[in-house]
Amino acid sequence: MEKYILIIQCDIAHNRCSGFACTNSFYERSGAFEKYGENIKYISFTCGGCCGKSVAAKIEHFTRKLTLKTDILKDEVIIHLASCMVTDNAHYDRCPHVDFIKRILAKKGFTNVVEGSYISGGASRKREMGIYKDYKGGCCTDS
Ligand code: SF4
Ligand code: SF4
Repeated sequence: MEKYILIIQCDIAHNRCSGFACTNSFYERSGAFEKYGENIKYISFTCGGCCGKSVAAKIEHFTRKLTLKTDILKDEVIIHLASCMVTDNAHYDRCPHVDFIKRILAKKGFTNVVEGSYISGGASRKREMGIYKDYKGGCCTDS
């Protein structure tokens, strides 16, 4: 049962994005967050920049705080790799380090990893039209 949602965002994309659409999508339970119930904690942070190596330190810090401050277990945490990391969109193609980042998370004991966060209707349409490559999900950064 999920108790904590963690979104990891592309550090490069975050230079031009506050993360609002991801957060709003979580609170609205839309996009990749549709299935979640109430009373779920939420946090987001970026990968720390290419090649994603900083995810190891950030997830370690998160784990320490999770253990100290809550009774939530690692398998009750769902990690969403943000749409800006995993999709092709107007500004960036899919991150070439996604598998590396997933391996870091698995090594640190986090196996509930989902691709996608906020899903843009516009980007999804362009994906259907073949303008963007269709990996999965969608991203807000097409506008
Ligand atoms: S998916 Fe969109 S809203 Fe979320 S962090 Fe990436 S660029 Fe920002
Ligand atoms: S490692 Fe991937 S997600 Fe992180 S900044 Fe680089 S391209 Fe973006």
